[in-house]
Amino acid sequence: MEQTYLPSRFNVLTHTHSKELIIYNSYSGAIASFSPSEKDEVLRLMKKEGTTGPLSMIGASLEKEGFLVNSHIDEKQRAQFLHQSLHRTDTMHLVLLPTEACNFRCTYCYETFPRGNMQKDVRTGLKKYIDNKGNQLNHLMVSWFGGEPLLALDEISELSEAFLQTARLHNIQYKAEMSTNGYYLTEETCRKLLQLEVRQFMVTIDGPEKVHDERRFLVNGEGTFSTIINNLKEIRKIDDQFDVYLRINFDESNLSEISETISYLSKLFDGDNRFQVLCRPVARWGGDNDDSLPICDPQVANKKIWEFTEQSIDEGLKLVSQIESSLMPTGSVCYAAKPHSIVVGADGQLYKCTLAFHKSINQIGKLFPDGSVELDYDKIAKWTLSGEETDEHCQDCFFRPACQGNHCPLYRMETGNRPCSLEKQRIKKVLQLIWKNYTNV
Ligand code: SF4
Ligand code: SF4
Repeated sequence: MEQTYLPSRFNVLTHTHSKELIIYNSYSGAIASFSPSEKDEVLRLMKKEGTTGPLSMIGASLEKEGFLVNSHIDEKQRAQFLHQSLHRTDTMHLVLLPTEACNFRCTYCYETFPRGNMQKDVRTGLKKYIDNKGNQLNHLMVSWFGGEPLLALDEISELSEAFLQTARLHNIQYKAEMSTNGYYLTEETCRKLLQLEVRQFMVTIDGPEKVHDERRFLVNGEGTFSTIINNLKEIRKIDDQFDVYLRINFDESNLSEISETISYLSKLFDGDNRFQVLCRPVARWGGDNDDSLPICDPQVANKKIWEFTEQSIDEGLKLVSQIESSLMPTGSVCYAAKPHSIVVGADGQLYKCTLAFHKSINQIGKLFPDGSVELDYDKIAKWTLSGEETDEHCQDCFFRPACQGNHCPLYRMETGNRPCSLEKQRIKKVLQLIWKNYTNV
């Protein structure tokens, strides 16, 4: 019997400047480009009314990548099934605050630094918690957060060594990343972190020296730019695999300096693909200075992000891998919405989200020294079940498999609005940049 094929509901089509066709599918995560000579055939196959088989060679490859689907397939049901996959129990993501103190006082920071380094009984509890789970885990991801995590390097070493030992014993795939201000990320510390399998760093540079130092200064008011840049230059010499996301937070007050900053960074890291730039707008994240922050209009900000991203690609930097990952199935779901993701504070308090520490809805339980945890499942459900389950608009969205309506459950809870990601809002531009990034080799 002849089969009928339809274009997937999760496709996005766009064109490059050189008239190539790009297609992306958020369920399979495939991104493909077609030359002008292949384009007519692809567009014919992508017509709403579908096509009846047998498929041509191009048709068969479109089906393989998920761009064309057999008409008997219920794609919405498949998306629902994908959503269930977040409930797998062999995966764990821990976001750890080895300290809640910080040596910086950035103007837009939302943290209050109520506690210092992680207490011994919390570390003991964490090690036991992971050890107890060893048998059931296949993947363990640790994100070192804070405060400034490098104020607690001893605590990080102690915990990492224990996690790595459990991972080796039970054949668990272990990965770790760190958000650090970069002030203590010396070559020696970086080498140590690499031994502990921390291989991804997020370091923020907010402009040229003067601008950065007015926004990201030490507790005593001193600037931090030159120390961070010197550290980055030193760690660049390490011959090992790691990524550094150079984050630039922009608002109205440094907007005019971002372009210059990108040029500076692209010269500094010329040809070293481990260093990538990520521009993000400052938002009112809940800090004391929120009311006076000169944040950009959201429309302007989302246009600027991609202009800056394009500039960094044009100037030889690689597109930050996080952007392409965010288009993959479940890639835009916040960790707060994932059942097996948990944030552990320095005092053993458990949270879902790394922004709203003081909110009761975010305080979901406690870790005890014997490795047991007490969890409030009613609160957890609010974070993990607030997306596509009940939002019919999300159920129909082309980006549903990537986002699942849960890009930021906090935003949805607080505003009642859908938390569509920056990438989804400008998906065609993002696809063009991904294509440019691949062809700019
Ligand atoms: S819920 Fe929103 S604010 Fe909280 S960690 Fe996720 S994306 Fe960030
Ligand atoms: S939150 Fe936005 S991007 Fe995410 S599924 Fe819903 S409509 Fe789509």
